[in-house]
Amino acid sequence: SPGLYFVATPIGTARDITLRALDILASADAIAAEDTRSMRRLLDIHGVPLGDRPLISYHDHSGPRARAGLLKTLSEGRSVAYASEAGTPLIADPGYALAREAAEAGYAVTAAPGPSAVITALVLAGLPTDAFFFGGFLPNASGARRKTLQSLREVPGTLVFYESPRRVAAMLEDAADMLGEAREAVICRELTKKFEEIRRGTLAGLAAELAGRALRGEVVVVIDRARTEGASSEEVEEALRHALESMSL
Ligand code: SAM
Repeated sequence: SPGLYFVATPIGTARDITLRALDILASADAIAAEDTRSMRRLLDIHGVPLGDRPLISYHDHSGPRARAGLLKTLSEGRSVAYASEAGTPLIADPGYALAREAAEAGYAVTAAPGPSAVITALVLAGLPTDAFFFGGFLPNASGARRKTLQSLREVPGTLVFYESPRRVAAMLEDAADMLGEAREAVICRELTKKFEEIRRGTLAGLAAELAGRALRGEVVVVIDRARTEGASSEEVEEALRHALESMSL
């Protein structure tokens, strides 16, 4: 049926794609992709023929003209599937401007959900998932990065960041300074791929381990929320009980 479909694609292992995503890619009147080469490869791997359907390159900064083309296709009652290079479109990836304009224009917009590195990292990090803050990519420059981290000190949830493997050591060092050296952190690398690796430690410990080194592959950094210093409620109760006992002598 007509409308715009946001389709999630794998973040590593090619078979991490849903049956519905493949159905949509097989039946859409046009496919738009952040990276048309990786879309062709994906269609190939899963035996989905493109046929004579258009495969259009689109990212939000390809600008209003490319967007207008896609909206025109929608206005003709046809369907468009959009995928970013990997994972869920719009999540640290293009698609937002398209989603907004299509919805504002009143076209049917839907999503075929699937992999995203932020969710996969949260599942594996072993830190609380009741509430989390996804910070996307922090600024590359240390000054701006430290300022952003400072503003996130009190967030009452697990923090999740995407980071370039070349910058992760510097980022951890800034995080240790701004959020506290003892905070627990987890580096999730190459998720769903052959060399998937989960590395746990404190911010200062991980920063020291990686100092001056670049990691290989793709990385998500997960950081625990601020923990209030001092005694747990069990410790407080125990101390009270002790005090009361000694008073009743
Ligand atoms: N849209 C994607 C998603 O839903 O996760 C994210 C795209 S963003 C441009 C790419 C960043 O996501 C990488 O730099 C890395 O931080 C993270 N990422 C993507 N795939 C990953 C993987 N397999 N393992 C670890 N991190 C990954």
